[in-house]
Amino acid sequence: MLRLNAPSVLRLVLFLALLLCVHGRPAVRTIRDTAQFDALLKKHSEETGMPVIVDFYSESCGPCRQIAPAYKKLAKEMSDKAVFVKVDVNSQHQLSSRYGVRSMPTFLFFVGGKKFKEFSGAGEQQLRQFTDMSISKAEGENVELTFESLMEYYAVHDPMKAEEDVEIVYKACAKQSKAKGKCAGGAAKELGRKLNKKYSKRPKTIKRFTAVEKDDEKPEAGGEKSSKKEKTQKKEKKKTALSLSDIPKEELMAEIEKRNLAEAEAKEDAEEDDDDDDDLQTSTYTPSEFPERVVIIGSGPAGLSAAVYAARAGLRPVVVAPPMGGQLQGKGVDVENYPGLFNVTGPEVVSKMREQAALFGTVFEGDMVTNVNIDKRPFSVELKEGKSISTHSVIVATGADSIWLGVEGEYEHRGAGVSSCATCDGHLFRDQTVIVVGGGDSAMEDALVLSRTSKEVIIVVRRDVLRASKVLATRVIEKENIKIVWNSTVEEIKGGVIEGVAGEDGEEGTESKNVVKGAMIKDVNTGKLEEISCDAVFVAIGHSPNTEFLGGQIAHSKTHNGYLEVEGMSSRTNVAGIFAAGDSADAVYRQAITSAGSGAMAALDVERYLSEHGLGNEEEEFERQMMEEMMADEIVDDSGGYNAYENANAGAGRKESSKAPEKPKKEKKEEEEVKKEEEDEEHIEL
Ligand SMILES: Cc1cc2nc3c(=O)[nH]c(=O)nc-3n(C[C@H](O)[C@H](O)[C@H](O)COP(=O)(O)OP(=O)(O)OC[C@H]3O[C@@H](n4cnc5c(N)ncnc54)[C@H](O)[C@@H]3O)c2cc1C
Repeated sequence: MLRLNAPSVLRLVLFLALLLCVHGRPAVRTIRDTAQFDALLKKHSEETGMPVIVDFYSESCGPCRQIAPAYKKLAKEMSDKAVFVKVDVNSQHQLSSRYGVRSMPTFLFFVGGKKFKEFSGAGEQQLRQFTDMSISKAEGENVELTFESLMEYYAVHDPMKAEEDVEIVYKACAKQSKAKGKCAGGAAKELGRKLNKKYSKRPKTIKRFTAVEKDDEKPEAGGEKSSKKEKTQKKEKKKTALSLSDIPKEELMAEIEKRNLAEAEAKEDAEEDDDDDDDLQTSTYTPSEFPERVVIIGSGPAGLSAAVYAARAGLRPVVVAPPMGGQLQGKGVDVENYPGLFNVTGPEVVSKMREQAALFGTVFEGDMVTNVNIDKRPFSVELKEGKSISTHSVIVATGADSIWLGVEGEYEHRGAGVSSCATCDGHLFRDQTVIVVGGGDSAMEDALVLSRTSKEVIIVVRRDVLRASKVLATRVIEKENIKIVWNSTVEEIKGGVIEGVAGEDGEEGTESKNVVKGAMIKDVNTGKLEEISCDAVFVAIGHSPNTEFLGGQIAHSKTHNGYLEVEGMSSRTNVAGIFAAGDSADAVYRQAITSAGSGAMAALDVERYLSEHGLGNEEEEFERQMMEEMMADEIVDDSGGYNAYENANAGAGRKESSKAPEKPKKEKKEEEEVKKEEEDEEHIEL
């Protein structure tokens, strides 16, 4: 037994009370092991009834980063209706293979502990839609039919029914609902429906779950959480333990250790949450009464480099782009060809550029641009969420997106074996055979990335030469596990079914799943078709510039579809005041460094354009004029002898100028005395 004196007991009590403080839960919790995940599902199916939504992601996956802020926003919005968690597939192989996750991000939606919906990809709308559906389903299933209610019901509608028979009906419902002997959820609803059909009236139900115990969300170590009864007993025990000296030392130490662990975990969660919050800081733009000098659309290397230049020139640029986006976000491996940067991945490069732009005063707005109204000046940049920004000039730096093959089986298997991002999804096909379609730099890079993890990489090339740079082509040809199929095209992607993935309830081996099994390859010379077996197809056949939102108002390149046309070596488009930079206007080089270079050119072109047209900082100009007017007012009002320019305290002059300056006290007193004497004299005279 540990014997403690009174001050020690007090200190220990205070310490334990401090540890008892409840830590706020992050909106999206990280699952650290399978037991924690299972316990979470169990808890919410048995105790809260809330759906559990799971994001299977990986750090190197661009689309995962892209959707993460939206997922977190949704989690915050719906925190009282659903539970949002994330699983890193790299550290949680067991969970991702249990649910047959083959593409990232993949979202699973659990209601009542069972998988209800699933989808892969960064579709915000689908994420919201499935979340709403899961919440509706969970709310619909939040019913319980008590035995008493059923008895009352039969007493009214079928009084001849014996209690034993009612009990049989109730037990059958309880067995189906698997709710610990209760007739609840879907089974209770089904019973209600049947009774309604028979007696034209439903029995009364109650809500199975009431208020959610938010602070008690964390399952206890080891996965299983203690029952309510146990908890009450513990509380009682705490209350009745009048002295800590009655508690054995081992129990105290174990409790402290447990709470320290819980505190550390909560701190980690909160830190993680803070990190994620950085992603969510999507808007630093406050609408102004005055037009901006430059709005930059896009935050890839082109947009951010333009921002650095424009910000350093004092133009206070506004960058509009979704918080996560751009091609480098999908590059989980190092960017090796950007001078001065090494050992940094694509997303890290972009993040550094963003940091630098922000440092010099760039303002960010995390949204998509849907249109630029060029019919009036200043232009009006329209945003998806409804805002519009008035600006004298615009730099379009919206990059380009992947192009798909458009063959049968491609769309159906996107996110389930068909991908355009080898760095994101490659490692899901470890030790398997994968096809890469394309003969350019992107295709070669993808093949090299995949060759590190896949058993075999087959490149399907339309011609008998590679379009890629010589260095990349040589590296590919030298790789032993890369094979090239020349003069061929992919005509169809074949799917098949694999058995033995996890079932709805997470049980291993109970469900089948559609996967890629092969591709039909056509020899362009002979027209002969051949099926090549594979587990995934990576499409790397090019890009389509993101310029559609401009609706053809700006001239396009005559040789390269969709790319914006610029004048000679400049970034000027055919519309004065609109400039283009990066991949949206470059079908040839399409590199981070060239995009950054053209972004810098665009900012310099904007500076020149603004000064040529006398378009300065109108806000500053307005303030200057106001000040001048105020000063002028002061001169005009100076009838009392006050001159703002002669007064040292000119800044405080405006209100003062309407009054005559105060006279010194002594002078005032003498004046008053003279006045009084005069009055007295007048009085005597009277
Ligand atoms: C997998 C991969 C690996 C690569 N690796 C390298 C490499 O190692 N080295 C290299 O030099 N290059 C590499 N590249 C090429 C390089 O990423 C691009 O050339 C470069 O990112 C182009 O920059 P950008 O700013 O023009 O466009 P992007 O980087 O594509 O950025 C476009 C921006 O515009 C935004 N946007 C699009 N539409 C809108 C809209 N309507 N409203 C608002 N914002 C919008 C996007 O969200 C994004 O922020 C790689 C490309 C890929 C796909």
